[in-house]
Amino acid sequence: MKEDILNNLSIINNRIIKACEKAGRSAQEVKLLLATKTVSANRIKIALENGQTLIAENKVQELKEKFEDLKDTPHTNHFIGHLQTNKIKDILKYNVSCLQSLDRLELAEKLHQRLLAENKTMDVLIQVNTSNEDSKFGIAPEQAIELTKKVSEFSTLKIKGLMTIGLFSAEAEKVRLCFKILKELQQKIILEKIPNVEMKELSMGMSGDLETAIEEGATIVRVGTAIFGARIYPDSYYWNEENNKEKL
Ligand SMILES: *Cc1c(COP(=O)(O)O)cnc(C)c1O
Repeated sequence: MKEDILNNLSIINNRIIKACEKAGRSAQEVKLLLATKTVSANRIKIALENGQTLIAENKVQELKEKFEDLKDTPHTNHFIGHLQTNKIKDILKYNVSCLQSLDRLELAEKLHQRLLAENKTMDVLIQVNTSNEDSKFGIAPEQAIELTKKVSEFSTLKIKGLMTIGLFSAEAEKVRLCFKILKELQQKIILEKIPNVEMKELSMGMSGDLETAIEEGATIVRVGTAIFGARIYPDSYYWNEENNKEKL
C-alpha cells in the first residue's frame, strides 16, 4: 500500500515535470494538490509524510472525519467540493485555508460574515463551469467577471485565481477548450485591475488531463485516482447535487 502510493507519487511528479518541460514552464510553477475524497487518513498520511503538503476534500463530512487523525501531520487544506452555506462554520473549524469552489454570491456573503465574526480571512478561487454541463457546479464564464468584482468587495475573502473541473472526456482537445476558457477569463480579469484581486492561480487538470492543463497554464493540478487508486463512487456523486440527493 505504501509502496503503491509512493510509486504513484513519483510517476505523477514526473508527469508534471515532463509537461512543464514541454510547455517551457518551470516545474516550480505547478503545485500538486491531492484530491483525497474517499481516501482514509492513514493513506493520506503516507503521502504527507513523503513530501506532499497540499490536500483537499469535497465533502465537509470527510474533512471532519479525518481531522483528528491528520492534525499532527503538517499540511494545508483546500476545499474543492460544493459547499452549502450551513457548512461554512465547519470549513473554518477544520482549518481550510482556501475555498477553491466559490461559485455564487450568496456563499461569498455568508462566508464573509462568518470570517468577520471570527476575525479571520480566507483565500478563495472562483469556480467556473467551463464545460457548460448542468452536472457541474461553477459560475458560467460570462458571469465570472461580475462575480469576481462582487466578491472582491468582501474584505475577508482573498481572491487568488480561478478553478474549473473541465469536461470529463477522453478527447483531449475538447478538454483543452475548457482550460483555454479559464485561462482567457483569467487574462480578462487581470485587465480589469480589480482591487483586492490576485489572479495568479489556475486550478485545473486531474489524473487524466493534467498534461493538457499544464500546457494551458495550470498552477494547481488536483490529482486523486492516479495516486490513491480508483474510487467506488462515481464522480457525479461529488459533483452533482441532484445525484447526491438520490443516493443519500
Ligand atoms: C476527485 C476530484 C479531482 C481528482 O480527480 P481524479 O480524476 O481522481 O484525479 C479533482 N478535482 C475535483 C473537484 C475532484 O472532485
